[in-house]
Amino acid sequence: MRTGIATVCLSGTLKEKMQACAIAGFDGIEIFEQDLVTSPLSPEDVRKMAADLGLGLDLYQPFRDFDGVTPDLLKANLRRAEAKFRLMARLGMDTILVCSNVATASIDDDALRAEQLAQLANLAGDHGVKVAYEALAWGKYVNDYEHAYRLVDMVDHPNLGTCLDSFHILSRDWETSHIEAFNPDKIFFVQVADAPKLSMDVLSWSRHYRVFPGEGQFELAKFMGHVVRAGYTGPVSLEVFNDVFRQSDVERTAVDAMRSLIWLEEQSAKWLAGTDGAQDIGAALRRRYPMELATLPKVNQPAGFNFAEVKADDTAQLEKLLGQLGFAFEGRHRTKDVQLWTMGQARVIINEQAAQHAEPAIAALGFDVDSPVIASARAQQLKAPVVARKVQADEEVFQGISAPDSTEIFLCQGSPDGTAAWTHEFGEGLEHASAGASAVIDHVNLAQPWQHFDEAVLFYTSALALEPQPFAEVPSPSGLVRSQVMQASNGDVRLVLNLAPVQQAQNEARKTYQEHIAFAVDDLVATAKAARDRGLEFLQIPANYYEDLDARFDLEPGFLATLQELNLLFDRDADGEFLHFYTATVGSVFFEMVERRGNYDGYGAPNAPVRHAVQYDSLHRT
Ligand code: MG
Ligand code: MG
Repeated sequence: MRTGIATVCLSGTLKEKMQACAIAGFDGIEIFEQDLVTSPLSPEDVRKMAADLGLGLDLYQPFRDFDGVTPDLLKANLRRAEAKFRLMARLGMDTILVCSNVATASIDDDALRAEQLAQLANLAGDHGVKVAYEALAWGKYVNDYEHAYRLVDMVDHPNLGTCLDSFHILSRDWETSHIEAFNPDKIFFVQVADAPKLSMDVLSWSRHYRVFPGEGQFELAKFMGHVVRAGYTGPVSLEVFNDVFRQSDVERTAVDAMRSLIWLEEQSAKWLAGTDGAQDIGAALRRRYPMELATLPKVNQPAGFNFAEVKADDTAQLEKLLGQLGFAFEGRHRTKDVQLWTMGQARVIINEQAAQHAEPAIAALGFDVDSPVIASARAQQLKAPVVARKVQADEEVFQGISAPDSTEIFLCQGSPDGTAAWTHEFGEGLEHASAGASAVIDHVNLAQPWQHFDEAVLFYTSALALEPQPFAEVPSPSGLVRSQVMQASNGDVRLVLNLAPVQQAQNEARKTYQEHIAFAVDDLVATAKAARDRGLEFLQIPANYYEDLDARFDLEPGFLATLQELNLLFDRDADGEFLHFYTATVGSVFFEMVERRGNYDGYGAPNAPVRHAVQYDSLHRT
């Protein structure tokens, strides 16, 4: 698959954008006119720079409001087009994007449009240029990709083809399978963009909220599958207008963009193989379709959390909290400044290495995978940065990658009984004390910097095969917190990505974001009582909450009293019940204990605003 990206996706100058695209590994780019017009580089400079960087200049865009116009306007439009064709000759480019007309004064007559597009194609032919005609979702009369193709087909000129843009097609819910019937010689270009499903006017949606494939909710693998089946072999190019990407680090955004295409290529191959009933994806596709689709090392979803790691200089408060919760200290690592605490199969590492003056913070997560080597190879092919960990000769080597928020992600060998071989490196080989209570890591909640939120969704989707759930917005005293759950389909791995309000990050004197690790136990009331007896400081829940709880659920009075006495939160839905409590925060970390009853699959979302408010209050009181 030939990969491409429009310069409009990225921040910076044309030169910076082109360099970032080359570093990220794109085959070609689309030059967005505005980027050229504002550049000090001459067209010849741009041409040379692209050649030096090994970047194809695949599409010049956009050319607007050409078709369905009066004779006077047509004359002016042809003159305007010819100027661009000359410019393209200097750039060494041969394909231009022409969007369907959005002008209210345009004329709704397909015969007239075809006649005018034929004139444009003739002129383009004289200049060796190909015109890719695209139906904008908000085109005045042509806003359906099949309509645009019908016009191209009517004109039937070698210099006129169509451009398929996934946003314009999927935002309108057009049926995509009809692409398969198109003549591939008349598909000149394919643009891909994803988007969250929003109900707003389609122009604003398109200009501000497009995201890279895998970061939104469009069915792009299916769209691409139909494109491949049509026999298309040209560039697949990202055209993503997004307010965040246009102000984020250009090289980083380019890598995120490239990752989205590598992932989409694999997903398209899988979709095709699935609908073709093929066993061996690569071979079956190579036989059947002219576009070559690369695949990736195959991974299953992680089977569970192997460990969570908190980094801290002063570990006293963390040790106290874990002890009060019922965790057992398993000892120190035999060569490193690292402690291991366990409760059943929940393992927490406290890392004091290179943590000088660092407030306690979640630093790393280990996931159980079938094969750390295969999972690591996949992540690296998806351009995840590798994390190096110093190990002694006889210690387990961890395959690590860095997540967009710099959390280190370790791909660990899972075992059927949930144990981890590396724990023998702790406690000088002593018999490990059994903690008694059984527990597992239920979920981890990570705060995401606003500029890396979408990147994080794609990272966990593509590298770890976690599935994004519909996102929620949780009110807090400092603003709405956008909350995105990424989970394995069986619920054994749950990761909650929170986008904290910007104001919260900037104004708080303390460590900016709060993050937490939640542990699931069998009996939360017993766990809470034991923790209280060990002196645990619970997050104090207001009495108003319990009155509301009673009104909503009509709880048995004794049970309600127990909840209130122990500062427990409660939720119930059609699937089951959820009990949980939170500890106070140390540095930027706090812990949560949960009990899932029945098939309850959520996170106590109705209680999250209470938690945010109480934490806000305690942060501003001290
Ligand atoms: Mg487009
Ligand atoms: Mg973190």
